[in-house]
Amino acid sequence: MEVVLGVDIGGTNMKLCLLSCSGKVIEEGMIPTVQEEGVEGAASRVNRWLVDNSFNEYRLAGVGIGCAGLINKDDGVVISSPNLPGWEGASLKDVFKGVLGRDVIVENDANCAAFGEYASGAGKNSNTFVCITLGTGVGGGIIVDGKLLTGSRGFAGEIGHIVIDPSGPECGCGRRGCLEAFIGASAIVRMFMEELKKRRPGALADLDGITVRDISAYARDGDMVAIDVLKMTGKYLAMGLSVLMHLLNPDVVAVGGGVANAGELILEPARDELKGLLMHRVLGEVKIVRAELGSMASALGSAFLAREVFCGS
Ligand SMILES: [Zn+2]
Repeated sequence: MEVVLGVDIGGTNMKLCLLSCSGKVIEEGMIPTVQEEGVEGAASRVNRWLVDNSFNEYRLAGVGIGCAGLINKDDGVVISSPNLPGWEGASLKDVFKGVLGRDVIVENDANCAAFGEYASGAGKNSNTFVCITLGTGVGGGIIVDGKLLTGSRGFAGEIGHIVIDPSGPECGCGRRGCLEAFIGASAIVRMFMEELKKRRPGALADLDGITVRDISAYARDGDMVAIDVLKMTGKYLAMGLSVLMHLLNPDVVAVGGGVANAGELILEPARDELKGLLMHRVLGEVKIVRAELGSMASALGSAFLAREVFCGS
């Protein structure tokens, strides 16, 4: 049987997906990333996973790699990746090809996650699909007519860095008022603390280390400050989405990542707000849903992208 392998490289783990050329997931797995071992070590660990599970008996047509950070997709060189210090300058493409003996494609992990959702998750059967990942950072990917939109240099889909207010808070990228600076996980926590300080200053004492997950739990218990903050998050999300609606007219938008676990607490206000931000209501005929694949989205997507390139020729 002919197969492709998807590898999602994160700072602590690599997630793996072995996919048949007919599109069936054969196996999913997870192995540690040991940063000090570099790209070479990572590739060796992936190879060992294949051998240990006897997957080397399949005919491996090619490999897709998804990696966080700025990666040059042509030569697979890591330009910058905050989660993988020391990997800058190394070519994921060349090293993995050297170790696994197969051709390799490399893509940004958010783009891979979007393609995964399109191929086998929330975007299945859609035509123009946008996937937004809400977490520490805000990432995204865009699929048009079945193809991942990469742009001229591979950097398309940086949804999190659309500026929605030039005088807004500072963003990790060094500019002000990016969507990520409003709805990245730490921004939501900051917004909650500020709101609390205004409305219930006595409650701040024991909130060290609070997360968006906690805020969502408070909101589900009826805490008005938490509900309002997630509502604001939805409104900011809608401002980012309105740009995408006018530009792409998607039929489905999926929202994934840890912050999306707040679900309708964010999505419902986002849908409401969006109505007032669109040129015409026709543009609002879009399904805004939760992503479905969870933390495996990127590994699945890199495998499906590899399948597009390496299967059926
Ligand atoms: Zn930014």
